Formats: sequence, structure tokens, C-alpha cells
Amino acid sequence: MDKIQIKGLKVFAHHGVYPEESAQGQDFFVSVCLDVDTRLAGLRDDLAQSVDYGELCLFIDRYMKKHTYKLLESVTENLAREILLRYPAADSVEVSVSKPHAPIPLPFEDVSVTVKRAWHEAYIAFGSNLGDREEYIRKGLETLEHETDVFLLRTSSIIETAPYGGVEMGPFLNGVVKVKTLLTPYELLKLCNRIEGEAGRERTVHWGPRTLDLDILFYDKLILEDEYLTIPHIDLKNRDFVLEPMAEVAPGMVHPVYGKTMSDLLAELRGKV
Ligand code: ATP
Ligand code: CA
Ligand code: CA
Repeated sequence: MDKIQIKGLKVFAHHGVYPEESAQGQDFFVSVCLDVDTRLAGLRDDLAQSVDYGELCLFIDRYMKKHTYKLLESVTENLAREILLRYPAADSVEVSVSKPHAPIPLPFEDVSVTVKRAWHEAYIAFGSNLGDREEYIRKGLETLEHETDVFLLRTSSIIETAPYGGVEMGPFLNGVVKVKTLLTPYELLKLCNRIEGEAGRERTVHWGPRTLDLDILFYDKLILEDEYLTIPHIDLKNRDFVLEPMAEVAPGMVHPVYGKTMSDLLAELRGKV
């Protein structure tokens, strides 16, 4: 990926754990490296296709002066997030903030914190088979959309499906949504659980009836398995109600474990292959 880099931007600001640091202020040096596709800007010689680094420097200066954090970790974390939200052309950013005059009672050259943050692409399955199913889904997606760190990129058609897992209950409405997010997989799960809770979801029977179920299907090409999360979703290849909407929004996407596309997995499940 192409990069746009700013090194050692000097900003006078007031971050620090000690009261005298926030009162008096000191110099900070900010370095930023953005992953941006600069090809179009380069070919067309057009700034509108790229990131205006002059404007970015002014933004960093303003942001660093406007907020006061105790920790360099907070300065870098928040700055990285704000930059990614402000410059959608950037897929990821590395931010380093150093504080050469930090109050350390020993001679030292410099101290800094560096973080790398990125947009991630995730697919979330939604399902409902209790109450006003359309409304639970509509509201759930609306809440997701209103989260600053989540953008809805594509939503599948909503299909009606027979219940899965052998528990006697009413039919489901199912679909999937593709999102772009700054959240980690665990933060995304927490958000999904919160939205389920807001839909009045009660966990009684496993695979039982529910007002709203949100499952993370994919998170980039991540393969993860622990006590909280299994990504990709463990039972995906056996679920027509997940693969059909996935084949609609991302037919050519390859499952990172099976190495097969969504269309192929759906065809396989339906016995066509
Ligand atoms: P299934 O996951 O088979 O569709 P379910 O959706 O009915 O079943 P829930 O009761 O909603 O199951 O969730 C059970 C637990 O599954 C959650 O507490 C969560 O921690 C865990 N889990 C593991 N992987 C995922 C994932 N990819 N997305 C959502 N939850 C997951
Ligand atoms: Ca589920
Ligand atoms: Ca679930």
C-alpha cells in the first residue's frame, strides 16, 4: 500500500499525568504514517483524490491543543481514531507521539508511544423470529449505523426461513450486513450483544426463539477461536439462511478456513456440487 508520512510535527500542548504538565504545557512531536492508495491522485495530479497533509498537520495541532489527556497512550489512541474518521481514504494509520521533555528524573533522549489502527471489514448475520421481526431488525441495523466507529456498507435482502436447530418455534427473518469498523472483534461482539439487549433479547433456550440475534460471521481474514468468539462463525457452512444472503452481498469472497467462495459454499450445501 502507498503511504503518506509526516515526521516530527512539533505541537505545544498540555498532556501529562502531573498537574504542572497540564498547567504549563510542553512540546510534543507527532509522526503519522497513513496507508492511502495514491495512484489516482498521482495519475491525475489531483489533491481531491488524496489526503491533504498540510490540512492534516493543522488538524493534528488543533486536536492536540483542544484536548488534554493524562497519558500519551490516550493521545495516540484518540488521534489515530480521529484521523481515520476524518480521512476515509486512509485504510490504516500509524501514529507516534513523543515527549522529549517528559518529567523523568534521569537523563533520556526521548519517550514515545506508537499505535497502528485500521478500518476492518466485517460481516454480521441478523435474525429474528419473535414479535415484530422487521422492526427489531430495522432498529438493530439503525443502531449499528449510528455508531461512530461502524459504517454499514451493504445489507442483503431479508429472507424468511424455517427455524434451525430442532427447537419448535416460528419462522425467522434472516440477512447479513457488511460493515466497515474501527472496533476490535471483541468490541464488535459487545456492541452486538448490547443491541440484542436493547431489542429485549432474553437468553433461555440455546437456538431458541429470539427478538434479535446478531452473529459475527467474518472479520477481515481473521481466524480466531477462544471462549468468547469463534470467527469465522463456526456453523456457517451448514446454514442456508446465512450463505444465501452472503452469496448475495459477497459471492466471490473466500472463506479463510475452507478456501471456498460464498457461492461455492452455498451450492455445496444445496447439493449442487
Ligand atoms: P449460534 O452461534 O449457533 O448461531 P446462538 O446465536 O443462538 O447460536 P447465542 O446464545 O446468541 O447463540 O450466543 C452464544 C455465545 O456465542 C455468545 O455469548 C458469544 O460469546 C458466542 N460467540 C462465539 N462466536 C461468536 C460469533 N462469531 N458471533 C457472535 N457470538 C459468538
Ligand atoms: Ca445465531
Ligand atoms: Ca448469537
